Amino acid sequence: MKKMLIINLNKNSYEIVETPLSLIEEYIGGKGFGVKLYQEYIKANTKPLSPENVVMFINGPLTGTLAPSFRSCLITRSPLTGTWLDSYFGGYFGQEIKYAGYDAVIIKGKATEPTYITINNDNINFHSAVNLKGKKVSETSEMIKSKHGRQYKIACIGPAGENLVRYALVSCEHMRQAGRGGAGAVLGSKNLKALAVRGTNLVNVNDKKGFLEAVKKAHQELNESPSIKSFKEDGTPGSIPYAQDIGMLPTKNYKYGQFEKSENLESKAQINSLWMRNLACSGCPIACGKIGRVFKGEYKGIISDTVEYETLGLIGANLGLSNINHIIKIANLCDELGLDTISTGGSIGFVFEAASKSNLDILQKKGLEFGNAETVIELVKNIASRKGELSNILAEGVKRASKHIPGSQEYSVHIKGLETPAWSPRGAPGMGLALMTADRGGCHQRAFPVSYEMGDDLWQGEQLNRLGVDKKAELVIYLQNKLAALDTLVKCDFGTYGISEESYRIMLNTATGFNLPSDYWQTLGAKIWDETRRINLQHGFERNDDYLPERFVKEPLPDGPASGHYISQSDMDQMLDDYYRLRGWDKDGRLNY
Ligand code: SF4
Repeated sequence: MKKMLIINLNKNSYEIVETPLSLIEEYIGGKGFGVKLYQEYIKANTKPLSPENVVMFINGPLTGTLAPSFRSCLITRSPLTGTWLDSYFGGYFGQEIKYAGYDAVIIKGKATEPTYITINNDNINFHSAVNLKGKKVSETSEMIKSKHGRQYKIACIGPAGENLVRYALVSCEHMRQAGRGGAGAVLGSKNLKALAVRGTNLVNVNDKKGFLEAVKKAHQELNESPSIKSFKEDGTPGSIPYAQDIGMLPTKNYKYGQFEKSENLESKAQINSLWMRNLACSGCPIACGKIGRVFKGEYKGIISDTVEYETLGLIGANLGLSNINHIIKIANLCDELGLDTISTGGSIGFVFEAASKSNLDILQKKGLEFGNAETVIELVKNIASRKGELSNILAEGVKRASKHIPGSQEYSVHIKGLETPAWSPRGAPGMGLALMTADRGGCHQRAFPVSYEMGDDLWQGEQLNRLGVDKKAELVIYLQNKLAALDTLVKCDFGTYGISEESYRIMLNTATGFNLPSDYWQTLGAKIWDETRRINLQHGFERNDDYLPERFVKEPLPDGPASGHYISQSDMDQMLDDYYRLRGWDKDGRLNY
């Protein structure tokens, strides 16, 4: 029997229920399960930090099998944006949920005191987490493993989650995070410090021979892909020179698209600072993670994953920091305290610019300036603990913080309240549209059309005009549908650079016994996008929320090959009109079905 574990923290109780066959057949798993379960459990008026919000850890049908490069997802209502939130994490925690026998773990209610839960197959126990209060994520993980056994895989929050920082993350086995949108604050609001899971079940597939052949083909595709070769060698920092060349590297609160010291952020610089070995999520041959230890200087001894691209962009270039050891230290602090680095970098970049433009008392503190690593370190610590008026405001994210600073609207960079990623969209309107329409707010992982806009890939056999808006909506929809559909499995984004849609389909069919057709991904993806749109409309979002922040609309990009470009109001309106029409929504982005 396929099953789900439903935990009610109000009563420290749980039930194990059969996963409905109709849910599996119609929505596969992962994000697909998420949209249906969200509609069942989370009401339109549910406040994100109330006991009525629900957190769901969900797997896909290939999780825990030999299929390469899969992860897991966490679904809840975001306290940062108020939208639907799906946040993905690698590592080993999701697989362990599957080995414990569950397609999903659904957490409702609020515990009366700090709590953590152990799940050992069908043996579920609730424990006091009073002694874990205020602990960093590695300490939390270590204390639970010391007590219950090292076989347990841990998902936990740090002090930021306990203090309800709106962009607190959930750390999964320390080095992997469900980072975006503030799921850590939702766990904090439930008084839930950690989940510890251990499973001993095998994950069976329907057609073993067919499945193994499909897995072999997927490995072959990964081996032959030039993009995967680059991820294997350099990890995500390999994107720094690319973003710099095309002028999309967010620099100094997104004012610029190029950073004069970008070379210091490249993977070579990190190799020089850290001793390295590869770090992979369960069963992933790509191993994009690189772990190391700072072996000299002020931060000697810090053990860290190498800083990945998004963090290099937002904590490095966006804050004007170029000393890689400073960035490693700050990234490590964010990981340990449980803060999303993208939103942290976005919020601090915003306040640095505000300090240069506003006379407000709280901004008169010395050191609030780009390039000041000491101030960033202090702010990160204070944001996680909400210490002091300024840090308390920044812990709310850019959208809410800007309401405290008159005139800051023009440089407050977020979409639907989510601080944008390290792909500044001026010079790539399709990327702008992808950010505008992403279902969890300004996110680059729902569609990434940049390689098509730069001419590295052809769209339907044609080279697109980089700065034009024609055909950008159909491209974005195609990519969004594809990625949402593959998130039912739950794929790793990087795996999609090598594994073909056909291989994903055959792995799914042979694993489950389904007989899904080759056009299935677009159909399924479109259905999921309708449902996440329906959810966000019910939460009160509308067309007005689908626009870019002023910085990208009113200020021409000052540097790089697209210098002078901005995404005008009429460009945004044309792309949105095209996008809604092609999705079958009305001109206000509403579904009439
Ligand atoms: S590519 Fe990287 S993030 Fe993705 S599954 Fe593999 S190791 Fe994990």
